[in-house]
Amino acid sequence: MEASYGLFIDGRWAAPPKAKRFETRNPATREPVGSFVSGTAEDAVRAVASAKKAFPGWRDTPAPKRGEILLTASRIMRERKEELGRLVTTEMGKVIGEGLGDVQESIDFIEYMSGEGRRLFGETVPSELRSKFCMTVRQPKGVVVCITPWNFPTAIPNWKIAAALISGNTVVLKPASNTARCGAEVVKVYEAAGVPPGVLNFVTGAGSIVGNALVSDPNVRAVSFTGGVETGREVYQLGAEGLKMVHLELGGKNPVILMDDADLPLALEGVLFGAFGTSGQRCTATSRLIVHEKVYATFLEMLVERLEQFTVGDPLNPKTGMGPVASADQERKILEYIAIGKKEAKLRCGGKKLTGGEYDRGYFLEPTIFETKHGTRISKEEIFGPVLSVIRVGTYEEAVRVANDVDYGLSSAIYTRDVNRAFRAIHDLEAGITYINAPTIGAEVQLPFGGVKNTGNGGREAGSVAIDEFTEIKTVFVDFSSKLQKAQIDTESSR
Ligand code: NDP
Repeated sequence: MEASYGLFIDGRWAAPPKAKRFETRNPATREPVGSFVSGTAEDAVRAVASAKKAFPGWRDTPAPKRGEILLTASRIMRERKEELGRLVTTEMGKVIGEGLGDVQESIDFIEYMSGEGRRLFGETVPSELRSKFCMTVRQPKGVVVCITPWNFPTAIPNWKIAAALISGNTVVLKPASNTARCGAEVVKVYEAAGVPPGVLNFVTGAGSIVGNALVSDPNVRAVSFTGGVETGREVYQLGAEGLKMVHLELGGKNPVILMDDADLPLALEGVLFGAFGTSGQRCTATSRLIVHEKVYATFLEMLVERLEQFTVGDPLNPKTGMGPVASADQERKILEYIAIGKKEAKLRCGGKKLTGGEYDRGYFLEPTIFETKHGTRISKEEIFGPVLSVIRVGTYEEAVRVANDVDYGLSSAIYTRDVNRAFRAIHDLEAGITYINAPTIGAEVQLPFGGVKNTGNGGREAGSVAIDEFTEIKTVFVDFSSKLQKAQIDTESSR
């Protein structure tokens, strides 16, 4: 049933008078899911002002106490897992197992970050002088803006919110317009957990209006953004004008390398999950399969045979293999790439929009495989849909060359039974993540997540390093010698 939401500013849900509204829709049925305020630049300014006002109180709340509130949030999320998992599937279209997985990832991450409240480690470092103590402490940055995409509509907001809050920052969340209800429900979880008014704010509306206004606001000290490369570049430039810390998580063109000694049945399961999980709309999706020529024909046949039995349909049905893509826009963009693929490569299976019956109500595409040479557009550009490019290679060295010759560097994988080659691949592959004998998807919250090249600008989410994005390091010197000691001048040899 459609639900109506306001903005959440200063601890109150309210819609500005005469606000324009937009709807989110179920991509499997096109039925409305939620109604939201089309926020304005003024709404963004109000949300930032609320976060700024709440900052001193939250900063001074002891970090373990902040952690307790987060732990409560993770418990509430767990109690609501079933309901929220269904919402993810209904609003975004990933199959129910993955919808529940999205929420589980949220639970795990909030719980993990709650423990950070008793760590937030600094360092103690020896001084070059006597009777002097040196250390670093972490301090929050201030107001943090989180801008999130639709493909992990609870997990990605939580990755950002929980890490920002435990570090003592206050937050404004701007969710993807397509999945605003998931974003709103995430915020309600924190509200119910006792996050004080103004500490977490929520503004909906077009990224080009609300997102822009948030990033440009002089009271914002940091921006955490996940989305497409072009938007990321724009956000980076806007943030640079205010010398803000801008953390970017962008796209991927992730390869699985399949060597001639690979366990083929194992790889088959991995490639299917990696390429067609979330209808291929994961930034870590397996979008290139680079196969050694000795197993190329055999593996491709295995893959195509399995795909012919693959069920595409109602994502709420636990037996469905793949749901719809997330929106009409997504469908159009993916079909454009499929048309390009048909011109420059050999279509091996799929390649069409599904029609008839329940398919006519939503955005359903066939899982698609192209055989292609390296260098075609479909082998190098991010498609963000259920389209796999298969590339034949003759050697490990060629496989690595092909794997690395793209603009992105998020995830990567190799299937081999040769332990030396596996370790070489860890060294050779230009990516933030490498899997051995597993597909390119499957992040765990206690490990860093992020990539190299156009995938981002060097930061990492998740793991304990996530808090590096949300804290300033203060260096502290305590001189207990009761005299002026001069670093670099009063050395042991000059005494
Ligand atoms: P977009 O870049 O279009 O949108 C991401 C977010 O940015 C949305 O909340 C959007 O709002 C907002 N936004 C749009 N324009 C602006 C702007 N000018 N200023 C500030 N914010 C803006 O990406 P999608 O949501 O379409 O997501 C798909 C892309 O995200 C893919 O390319 C994928 O690779 C990438 N991605 C990367 C991940 C990673 O971790 N590396 C994870 C998930 C996705 P609105 O919805 O209102 O337009």
